Amino acid sequence: MMDSAKDPSTLEKVLLYPDPRLRLKAEPITRITPEMKARARAMFPLMYEERGIGLAAPQIGWNVRLFVMNVSGKPEDEVVVVNPVVTEKTGGMWNFEEGCLSLPGIRGKVERERRIVLEGTDLDGNALRFELDALPGRCMLHEYDHLDGVLFIDRLSAAKRQSLKRRLRELEEDFEMAKAESAPTGAAAR
Ligand code: ZN
Repeated sequence: MMDSAKDPSTLEKVLLYPDPRLRLKAEPITRITPEMKARARAMFPLMYEERGIGLAAPQIGWNVRLFVMNVSGKPEDEVVVVNPVVTEKTGGMWNFEEGCLSLPGIRGKVERERRIVLEGTDLDGNALRFELDALPGRCMLHEYDHLDGVLFIDRLSAAKRQSLKRRLRELEEDFEMAKAESAPTGAAAR
């Protein structure tokens, strides 16, 4: 255990805004390897540790179309969706406050469709189909957005975004500082 804790390749962490990797369009998964299964499963403890209910692969710097979710927190409600596609959105729009593990300290009301159908596969390639409304549906739409490089702040009203400017600026400064600290000498001036 001590060794794996020292090996950075085994340590996943949640990328924070404005990390550019959060803005990439994630690649479809064509083949699921045992390593990918292990990596996907490792997203759950990370998500629980951060008190999240959903986590998308791009949030750990893994640029594939996959997310994990557990709205209830019960082990039997863990869901991994590979190559999700939203096939239906109905029920009208509703507003609800969202947060995101990649945007600590930021919350805001986002308008989304009330009912969705989302299809994909599990880690064994079995077809999955979810008909969801309310919070679980919203969570899936939020995670799905991450696969297209979309963050919930993109969907806030202009006024709300304006009110969050200071906090976003702080996150941007933290990110620049962390980047400068981790960069080899000379690279920080790029
Ligand atoms: Zn998020």
